[in-house]
Amino acid sequence: MTAQIIDGNALSRTLRAQVAVRATTLQALGITPGLAVILVGDNPASQVYVRNKVKACEDSGLRSVLEKYDATFSEADLLARVDALNRDPAIHGILVQLPLPAHIDAQKVIEAISPAKDVDGFHVASAGALMTGLPGFWPCTPHGCMKMLESIGYDLRGKHAVVIGRSNIVGKPMALMLLGQNATVTVCHSATRDLKALTLQADVIVAAVGKRNVLTADMVKPGAVVIDVGMNRNDEGKLCGDVDFDGVKTVAGWITPVPGGVGPMTITMLLVNTLEAAERSAP
Ligand code: NAP
Repeated sequence: MTAQIIDGNALSRTLRAQVAVRATTLQALGITPGLAVILVGDNPASQVYVRNKVKACEDSGLRSVLEKYDATFSEADLLARVDALNRDPAIHGILVQLPLPAHIDAQKVIEAISPAKDVDGFHVASAGALMTGLPGFWPCTPHGCMKMLESIGYDLRGKHAVVIGRSNIVGKPMALMLLGQNATVTVCHSATRDLKALTLQADVIVAAVGKRNVLTADMVKPGAVVIDVGMNRNDEGKLCGDVDFDGVKTVAGWITPVPGGVGPMTITMLLVNTLEAAERSAP
């Protein structure tokens, strides 16, 4: 078997075109969806992520405001900026790029963002809304994974989904979203015994670990859907995921590539969340 590819670039293009149409509708009402992105320090990876997010906004008819501060910016000053953006009616979404310098309490900053503008979905109110099924913003990466499953018409009801990784931004919200679609969910982590015995039972596997070759062909049931969230570098320095793509694609039914899979979907869902924040603010 050779797995069908779930193309995150193609799906992103479709969804971003829909965002652009909805943004035009809002503009007719005098509202331009606005995202504020705050970057503190000079982490090279963060600079690339922020640049990509700002560009994606511009390409889809959203306004973005990038605020850059040097690594010595104080926590108090950052909290003051978040407070000002919370009160700015032209800003509908606020994103503080992580990681923050060590002297700043990242959780405190996230909790300072108004839940109505929490387009990253990291606020504890957003996490609580996801857990209880109330309206709120879902974290972009697992939300993008759900959109990928939706795009292939996959019915999760009664299926066994195995999520590898339990971070607050990927693994745990991923598990809740799959549960919300009536999958039976197993969450694995570094203390899981016999990962292979669990993944071999899975109809859907989401790998969100940050280590190459966490999932190999011998760990996958024929026909399973494999979603690779991981972002790693191989020996040649090229971007790769957590999944041994070449091996697993001979067994799986569907698979997401890296690059060109979950990565672009994460930014796309940020645009969707920002647009929805603006739509909710409309009179
Ligand atoms: P994280 O906070 O480091 O969490 C990694 C998780 O993997 C932890 O729960 C850890 O378990 C678990 N783990 C570690 N080794 C394991 C093993 N051998 N077997 C099973 N589980 C193991 O990472 P994250 O923020 O969730 O990100 C995960 C990966 O996704 C990273 O490569 C990151 O770069 C990538 N990512 C990609 C996107 C995107 O847009 N494509 C977005 C976000 C993240 P413990 O909890 O027990 O430590």
